Amino acid sequence: MIVQIAGLVAYQEADNTRGTDRRLVDEGDTVTSFRGEAATFLRATRARITGKSGKVMVRWLDGNAAGTEGEYYDGVFGLTVEGILTCGCPLRVVADEGHQEGCAERATVQ
Ligand SMILES: [Zn+2]
Repeated sequence: MIVQIAGLVAYQEADNTRGTDRRLVDEGDTVTSFRGEAATFLRATRARITGKSGKVMVRWLDGNAAGTEGEYYDGVFGLTVEGILTCGCPLRVVADEGHQEGCAERATVQ
């Protein structure tokens, strides 16, 4: 299967302990590391693919590194980075289940 990745999106995973749903993270959103340090989300840089973590760029708000930017694994901030195909479907979903309902590719590629 030839796939064209059009972009990357980062999701904040659902947090059952805080009752939050999975949500899309945008540039400028504050994210929190597993150490409890806050950072500003800048962009996703690599999608999660089999055997590899996704990556994100952030600017630290807290701690010794405050004000500096760095690239980290998405899991450091409880995020999941996904590749989005040109049709708009997430790559992971297409690989597992095919194109989403309402996608124009759904009828042609199954
Ligand atoms: Zn699609």
